[in-house]
Amino acid sequence: MKRWLCLLLVCAALCGCTKQDTKFDRSIFCMDTVMDIQVWGVDATLIAENLITALQDLDSQWNANSDTSVIAALNRGDALTPEQQTLIDRVESLAQRTGGAFDPRLYAVTEAWGFPTDEFRIPTQQELDAALAQQLWDLGAAIKGYAADRCVELLQQTAATRAMLDLGGNIQTYGEKPDGSPWKIGIRSPRNSGTVGTVCVNGTMSIVTSGDYQRYFEQDGKRYCHIFDPETGCPADSGLASVTVVCESGLTADVLSTALFVMGLEEGSEFWRESTDFEAIFITAEGEIFATEGVELIDCQYEVILREK
Ligand code: ADP
Ligand code: MG
Repeated sequence: MKRWLCLLLVCAALCGCTKQDTKFDRSIFCMDTVMDIQVWGVDATLIAENLITALQDLDSQWNANSDTSVIAALNRGDALTPEQQTLIDRVESLAQRTGGAFDPRLYAVTEAWGFPTDEFRIPTQQELDAALAQQLWDLGAAIKGYAADRCVELLQQTAATRAMLDLGGNIQTYGEKPDGSPWKIGIRSPRNSGTVGTVCVNGTMSIVTSGDYQRYFEQDGKRYCHIFDPETGCPADSGLASVTVVCESGLTADVLSTALFVMGLEEGSEFWRESTDFEAIFITAEGEIFATEGVELIDCQYEVILREK
């Protein structure tokens, strides 16, 4: 081989060995919310761009406002692909686990209250009964969690060393920090822009919050939020302002944060005692904070919910 060619190959090999970790950080608008994507690793940009494409695909597939989405197909009773059907089966089984507090067929109810168009109004009981009876599909309370799980699967197929995804209130951590310290996630105060404390988690975890402060309207001094009690079709009024769920599965965390918000503190605590796959932080409308005993919560005054009463 010619000497100059050998030299070129050696140089190329050396460059390959010394390829450094880079960090990608970008905000995008997807699933009707702002998402922040941070990825560390060799080829972080390529990896993150793949995640963004996957998120955008899921957004168009599962958008309840679109006539061409899987949701529209579900409402027509059309057959789904095996992957789509698997998601629906998982959501149905989680909904059943919550005893109906989570109901993925409330789209007409959200319309009756004007949420999809921001033309808020209080519907009559007759309108609510009709909306409940329609049973129109809406995965708005689960799809960001599913998307987080999908991102983790994609990250596992790459050389990404770690990632922190904020999918609009759904936080997904991936991998370990180089110094071995835990990921620290601020829990937002439901009534101001500050935080009430910090949750510490290790490795790959989903931290999902549902609250009455994300989307709501007020009339005559009363707050009407975008999470509904499936029994009445009215905004959940369980005395909570927010619920945060910490869980290895993003989908489970998303479904349960919405369901626990509907259940309230007492029923939600009992539900946690009967479960082993998640931890939770409850903030009441009065601002009191309660956390299940497995949560590592710092910089915060709170009451611990014990497994044994
Ligand atoms: P966000 O999407 O704001 O993070 P959630 O995950 O709690 O919060 O989802 C709220 C959305 O889920 C609502 O906008 C509505 O579309 C739908 N939804 C409302 N109430 C319920 C419920 N009880 N079960 C399932 N989906 C619900
Ligand atoms: Mg949810």
